[in-house]
Amino acid sequence: MKVVILGSGSPLPDPDRAGPSTLIRTDAGDLLFDCGRGVLMRAAAAGSAAGALRALFVTHLHSDHICDLNDIVTSRWVTSFQPNPLTVVGPVGTSELVRATEAMLAPDIGYRLAHHRDLTWPPSTVATEVEDGVVLDEGGVRVTAAPTDHAPVRPTVGYRIEEGEHSVVIAGDTVPCAGLDNLCNGADLLIHTVIRRDLIEMVGLPRLSDVLDYHSSVEDAAATAARGGVRTLVLTHLVPAPAPGTDHQWLELASNHFDGEVVLATDLATLDLPR
Ligand SMILES: [Zn+2]
Repeated sequence: MKVVILGSGSPLPDPDRAGPSTLIRTDAGDLLFDCGRGVLMRAAAAGSAAGALRALFVTHLHSDHICDLNDIVTSRWVTSFQPNPLTVVGPVGTSELVRATEAMLAPDIGYRLAHHRDLTWPPSTVATEVEDGVVLDEGGVRVTAAPTDHAPVRPTVGYRIEEGEHSVVIAGDTVPCAGLDNLCNGADLLIHTVIRRDLIEMVGLPRLSDVLDYHSSVEDAAATAARGGVRTLVLTHLVPAPAPGTDHQWLELASNHFDGEVVLATDLATLDLPR
């Protein structure tokens, strides 16, 4: 199993960080978790593509985590030479998101069907809405979902991916909660979205300060990693994007609460979990 951070950024556009997205390459195929800004550009750099995805898993429906769904749907469709339905797994609301995305794409779908003789089918998507439990189990790979707490955004889910002896947890956006703790138990990697509480409080901008109450700070994520006994904590969805020369601050804040390895994500950072 190999983990590639496709996008380590946040809602704020950044020249070096795509939106939240993580690719997990397994024997069951490429599993994509969230699909933020620029996901397919980064997937191309990692040697993957929309048409190659076994499934897309969505943690929640905040726009920064799903804004390139339309690109995945269209790119998969126009690069496949036979119908190739996209499996999308996510919280309640995912089916409506997929339906609305396909509706938004209706003019484009019409243009291409009219123009390409060999393209005789529209894009298709199979959406599955989950709250908790096993959502994929094939080829020795198991993906389990559990509810997280990103209130007032509801519902939200995190995922645990297991292959052989290895396990990876995708927290998504959440404050510390029992659902995430259950997923984390003994995992090799915890990939956690984080914000810097100290920096955001210093800015003092109400629109920005609002995000403090429904995200984990670096310290919160580290405490979750410690409670779960995970081996490595990967900090991603970094708000604000680390200024040059400040990586050590992020790592130190986490290390004060967690004894394991801490990684500050960059786009295309790759973590190998050999069999
Ligand atoms: Zn969110």
